[in-house]
Amino acid sequence: MSRFILSLLVALGSSFQIFAQEKEPIVILISLDGFRYDYVERFQPENLLRFIAEGTSAEALIPSFPTKTFPNHYTIATGMLPEHHGLVDNSFYEPFKDQVYTMGNRDIVQDGYWYGGTPIWVLAEENGIKAASYFFVGSEAPVKGIRPSEYYDYDGDVPNLTRISKVFGWLQLPDTERPRMITLYFSDMDNVGHAYGPSNDEKIKQQLYTLDRELGALFEGIKSFDLPISVILVSDHGMADVEKTKLINLDQLTEGIDARVVNNGALAHIHLKNPEDKPKAIELIQSRSPQVSIDDFSQNSNYTDTSKYPQRFGDFIIIPEFGYYLADNRGMMRYQNNSARLKTEVFGEHGFSPKNHEMHGIFYAKGPRIKAGEQIKPFQNIHIYPLLCELLGLDIPAEIDGRKEVLAPILKD
Ligand SMILES: [Zn+2]
Repeated sequence: MSRFILSLLVALGSSFQIFAQEKEPIVILISLDGFRYDYVERFQPENLLRFIAEGTSAEALIPSFPTKTFPNHYTIATGMLPEHHGLVDNSFYEPFKDQVYTMGNRDIVQDGYWYGGTPIWVLAEENGIKAASYFFVGSEAPVKGIRPSEYYDYDGDVPNLTRISKVFGWLQLPDTERPRMITLYFSDMDNVGHAYGPSNDEKIKQQLYTLDRELGALFEGIKSFDLPISVILVSDHGMADVEKTKLINLDQLTEGIDARVVNNGALAHIHLKNPEDKPKAIELIQSRSPQVSIDDFSQNSNYTDTSKYPQRFGDFIIIPEFGYYLADNRGMMRYQNNSARLKTEVFGEHGFSPKNHEMHGIFYAKGPRIKAGEQIKPFQNIHIYPLLCELLGLDIPAEIDGRKEVLAPILKD
């Protein structure tokens, strides 16, 4: 009798195990804004090191140009280059609307007009998979008329642990209600990198260890669910030191040129009132500073293709030499104040060409289908999207720039 019960329990146990394995896959995509590729090696944060050892990591994640927050988050979310998904910069002018897209304008950020492609949460919802987001660029706007089932208006003051406990709340839901495509976003490393520069060991390390403790809590909590969860940790870009003395006054640089100037620091878009002024304007700018170059999209452009949204780039862009940064009069004042307040002569910035390895970010992935203890070469962030599709069992849209072959080797057979 007891043998019968024992074998019954064994049979039940194994059927439960099969049941657990058959649960539908869940993907949690986490962005650590501004997390540079070398922070883990430099500071050895214990929870991230353990996560990396149990999964696959890339030596670096190569962002797309410009290496700014909004274009690159949305590239990760859609598998498309900025010039194809439409967010060609953190801020840019759209003549068809006579509006400047800016991150700080909630009405604009939440207007689906600006967003091309099919973000992974939209693709999930289109295929009957519930998506939920505790912040991600694009998640607040209806794209193709669709938002994640749950999302929040961005508020940088929400503590990381509040965001993390909401994710636990989602995972606790019954199978039929539980979201299976989840995004999370943490801005800490970007904030500290901007304030003090990525070479400031003390400040970077301090912030990294705090974040690592919070991530440790997240990783432990996820383990306790016994669900087939894949966690993909990424960053949008790295960070480079910019000395206060290497700021270039953009108002002085473009003085006397009749144009709309949209400044993003590592590049500025110039929309001339009269396109015929272009040769004269370029000559004037170059005569004023040897530290800037001009990209008019004709050859070796930083953008690979301007044909889809030609009106959003301007007549040309001004690009400072790596390590220099553009600031208008107000920006110069702000840097001056920050320098006094934070007692630093060095800041951190990004947006420069992804050819500079300082701009490179991270890719760490772990899950039931992802190989453990593997390291792969740097790859461009357009290729993450097909992996997310594969993990969720979704067909990859034809329009994307990423290729599924790039990350196929990280999957178990
Ligand atoms: Zn960023």
